[in-house]
Amino acid sequence: MDGVSGRELTRLALGQDIARRHGAPYWVVHRADLHAALRQTAAALPGVTLRHGAEVKAATTAAGNVTVRLSDGEEASGSALLIADGLWSKLRANVMGSPGLFFTGKCALRTVLPASELPNAISRTDTTIWLRPAAHVVHYPVRAGRELAVVAIFDDRELGETWAADVPAQTIVSRAAAFPQPLRDLLVQPATWRQWSLYQPSAPVRWIRDRIALIGDAAHPPLPFLAQGGVMALEDAVVLAALLDAAAARDIPERLATYERVRRPRTTRVMAASARNGQAYHLDGLMRSARNAVLSAAPPGLLMRQYDWLYGWTVDAALTNARTQAGTIPAR
Ligand SMILES: Cc1cc2nc3c(=O)[nH]c(=O)nc-3n(C[C@H](O)[C@H](O)[C@H](O)COP(=O)(O)OP(=O)(O)OC[C@H]3O[C@@H](n4cnc5c(N)ncnc54)[C@H](O)[C@@H]3O)c2cc1C
Repeated sequence: MDGVSGRELTRLALGQDIARRHGAPYWVVHRADLHAALRQTAAALPGVTLRHGAEVKAATTAAGNVTVRLSDGEEASGSALLIADGLWSKLRANVMGSPGLFFTGKCALRTVLPASELPNAISRTDTTIWLRPAAHVVHYPVRAGRELAVVAIFDDRELGETWAADVPAQTIVSRAAAFPQPLRDLLVQPATWRQWSLYQPSAPVRWIRDRIALIGDAAHPPLPFLAQGGVMALEDAVVLAALLDAAAARDIPERLATYERVRRPRTTRVMAASARNGQAYHLDGLMRSARNAVLSAAPPGLLMRQYDWLYGWTVDAALTNARTQAGTIPAR
């Protein structure tokens, strides 16, 4: 949607159309529902113990072993450590010596509201993106359609730097006036919003040290303009599960090196494509007119085919590809 005129620019087939093309549908899911599914599945696996409130302070390797120290002083050890402590990873700096983050000047404000409270002209089923100069808004159904998730992103340094902080509705209300109906009515509806200022690593991140590896946002935090950060963390886990399954302790450093060879090119591409979307979504003037003309004129099937590399990924193809290149990947 054009976030200035309210005109539809294009309509891309997702859902079952992606299932026909790539073997699984395009899903949108509430973060809490995804967490619950992962937690239940993990808890039911033999050999998995889940511990809550266990903050890891430090990790060291010695003699084929990794030892972590928790904030209460307890120590635990094993043959490998996968660090998944997110964008703000402290272990990334402590263990890998990687650099910090810089503020991109873009801020995301998010909320969720009941589908029963939506303006009539807002779709309850489509994933919708509204594009206007220096801002865009995305909304999509969650909780089996009972709720709508809304994300509004602004190039706006006045919003300041903060992470997962509540912001007054007035912050959005004053900016909503620039958007066309019915989006304006949607944006002024929720009473509560939270803000995530968006950050990027200031230099390449080191992923592996001996038998310790970073995964997910700790390793490769994308900007959220392709909606794939959580997906990349899941893909990392699937690749690692395939590589570490039945691995002897002495083989773990090599398997982790393979994990990086398989995953780094893809996550780097996703990060670059996300950043490009962030620029294209916020264009102004002639560039904005050119973008809108392309979106309106291009056949939707052609636009979607540009994302075959993203949605067509499978763990088997990724491992086969890496095996062909390196000849060192164990068979699954
Ligand atoms: C505005 C916004 C919109 C997004 N939209 C999407 C989207 O639509 N689709 C998508 O796929 N992704 C999206 N993402 C990205 C997604 O949120 C992340 O990529 C994903 O959460 C990364 O998962 P993770 O497990 O690596 O890290 P996190 O989800 O950040 O989890 C890290 C965990 O580690 C814990 N932790 C931190 N330090 C320690 C420690 N020392 N010891 C123990 N535990 C620790 C934290 O408490 C946290 O639970 C979005 C991100 C933002 C900011």
